[in-house]
Amino acid sequence: MGPQNPPLPSAIKIRRTTSAGGGSGSIILEKYQLCRLLGRGSFAKVYLGRSLDNSDTEVAVKVIDKATTVDAAMEPRILREVSAMRRLHHHPNILKLHEVMATKSKIYLVMELAPGGELFTKLSRCRRFSESTARKYFQQVVSALRFCHQNGVFHRDIKPQNLLLDQNGLLKITDFGLSALSEHKREGLIYTACGTPAYTAPEVVCRKGYDGEKADAWSCGVLLYVFLVGSLPFDDSNLACMYRAMHRRAFEFPAWVSKSAKIVIYRLMDPNPETRLSLDELIKLSWFKKSFSQEYLSSQGEQKLGSDSLDQKDFKYLSRVNAFDIISLSSGLNLSGLFDSELKTKEIRFTCGMHVLEIEEKMATIGDELGYRTERGKDGGVRLVKGRVVLSVEIREVATELWLVELKVSDGGLMEFGELQWEELKSKLADIVVSWINEAS
Ligand code: ADP
Ligand code: MG
Repeated sequence: MGPQNPPLPSAIKIRRTTSAGGGSGSIILEKYQLCRLLGRGSFAKVYLGRSLDNSDTEVAVKVIDKATTVDAAMEPRILREVSAMRRLHHHPNILKLHEVMATKSKIYLVMELAPGGELFTKLSRCRRFSESTARKYFQQVVSALRFCHQNGVFHRDIKPQNLLLDQNGLLKITDFGLSALSEHKREGLIYTACGTPAYTAPEVVCRKGYDGEKADAWSCGVLLYVFLVGSLPFDDSNLACMYRAMHRRAFEFPAWVSKSAKIVIYRLMDPNPETRLSLDELIKLSWFKKSFSQEYLSSQGEQKLGSDSLDQKDFKYLSRVNAFDIISLSSGLNLSGLFDSELKTKEIRFTCGMHVLEIEEKMATIGDELGYRTERGKDGGVRLVKGRVVLSVEIREVATELWLVELKVSDGGLMEFGELQWEELKSKLADIVVSWINEAS
């Protein structure tokens, strides 16, 4: 409870332990110094990180302790989620993940820093938002979520604690896709330690198969309620009562909530996912569209942002994103056997989060740009051919949604295909590479 105000979202009750954790002061990846603790989540601590090369570069580093939070079965799921986050890089309201590294005991996610802190803090300070402020944040959340859905990712843990603000007050969704972890936690610890289930759609709680899009739509309804009212729609101190109330839509609105906002909330918090308002329908409502900035409007537009929308800084980070390290260090998934042979300059390997068909398509496009002809080999795989150079593309799935791509030049073409050609190819590939493996030198 807030000390002086009416009931605040009950999530407030369960957090705010800010004692500094063990990680402060240490140097990770030989690149960042961990400074003060920025926050704690259900399974991680997040520190301010300062680049050792340039102390002006600040990042947020999320440290996940494998021993206490991650079992072997979880690791591929983290990986899947990491690659999902990589796909979501282009939306202005999604916190960027710069790189991922792992040691035997810890996983480090190096992320964009959100210096404005949690939207939750801001909300607790002013108790509730005016309708126009609420709408401004809500629009950004919905825009980001639609983008994620279009990219096959569902958040499933939308709540004000996972909404951060950058220096300009722009909203950034975090904890993206890591919902798999919090869900996992939730099984073991019910709900006290890891957050409130008050934002979770009833069908998710019941563990029926559910539609991720509709589940996120429900959470958006709860979120909008919390923004406008300053407390949760349901009292979650008794779960059984809460679920009954959810099914009966037994929540009340204070007098200050406008009729049109009530309708939006009511339609989003429909216990039946079939009839619940979808986010695609939501964005067409006039309440939602009011003063909607074009900059958030078209997620299709965002999707088309190509690699050139990434700044140079991102490229530097991208080349070191190393989700692969997580699996190669994992007990259950030792991939070292894949790399027994000495690498020569005639091949390069990288991991990639795109589907095999998309990778092939991308290779064909790049080949085309560089003047190659695309052919299918006898084995069905793609080859790029120019003169005597035959560049074969081999793609293998090494973990769920993580693909290992091997590019090899046939012996006959080695004279024509040198360092320059590799560099040219690598720069074209930069935006799809999760990590380079044993780079050809
Ligand atoms: P968890 O996945 O364990 O819930 P979160 O990613 O939600 O962890 O991070 C926990 C808290 O750390 C957040 O609620 C926020 O206060 C702080 N935090 C996380 N990421 C950042 C960031 N990029 N910039 C600033 N603070 C952050
Ligand atoms: Mg969180």
